[in-house]
Amino acid sequence: MTTSVAHRLSGRVALITGGARGQGAAHARRLASEGATVVIADVLDEVGAQTEKELQEAGYDVTYVHLDVSDETSWQDAYALLDGRHGRLDILVNNAGIIHETTLAEESLAAWNRLMAVNLTGAFLGIHTMIPLLRNGDRPVVVNTSSVYGPSGAIGYAAYGASKSGMLGLTRTAALELAADGIRVNALVPGGVNSAMNEHEPDSGVLRETPLGRRAAPDELAAAVAFLVSDDASFVTGTELVVDGGFRTR
Ligand code: NAD
Repeated sequence: MTTSVAHRLSGRVALITGGARGQGAAHARRLASEGATVVIADVLDEVGAQTEKELQEAGYDVTYVHLDVSDETSWQDAYALLDGRHGRLDILVNNAGIIHETTLAEESLAAWNRLMAVNLTGAFLGIHTMIPLLRNGDRPVVVNTSSVYGPSGAIGYAAYGASKSGMLGLTRTAALELAADGIRVNALVPGGVNSAMNEHEPDSGVLRETPLGRRAAPDELAAAVAFLVSDDASFVTGTELVVDGGFRTR
């Protein structure tokens, strides 16, 4: 029997990093609309509280917590919260990310390290910390948000591209190591998405090379995440779901 999409994630417990706004908030709305209990985690506490309020008013089971993904203690606090509330974690979406544009010649070590700490080490810490709760999980699954700029490279985005390529490597090894526990791990590879991250470049960046001629709405990425974390993707692990309007054909 096929479960309807409306109830595909009933009873599942999800943690979404970078969930205060943008794609993370869209993932929260979509997963909650399919029945999940969702914890959104971010460093933007006011925005996160507002998103929590909006989603709760829409009838969804969504709560906000402060979590700096680059900080191991912060992850341990999130672990304690989830352990106390649920004793398990079924869905982890490592979505938090930052970006900056600098040539390799101008890049500073501090800026490089900060970006890696959030975009790549943050996902490592998330998986590493949550493994015991994922092992207790119901059909546990992890989604790591990469970017087309990882595999393709992009002038001015060495740190960002390297971090997002790193997410693909992390995804494959995590899928291999955690398969024995029944934990699936996949990467989401967005092309251009309309969010605060690129509002400073409305008509440039990845858009110029996107055959569909536009950026995605965050909801279009959320639909892909909902698929990856659902039983519809029960035999999908260690791979990438590219949602890029055709960018990677270029
Ligand atoms: P966004 O800037 O709206 O969202 C990123 C979120 O991550 C923000 O809420 C931010 O506060 C949070 N964050 C930043 N540092 C954090 C930290 N240390 N701890 C916890 N949270 C932190 O942009 P978005 O487009 O929604 O980005 C979501 C993900 O998608 C990112 O990983 C980004 O790199 C990736 N991505 C974005 C695009 C795009 O075109 N926007 C394309 C490909 C990939």
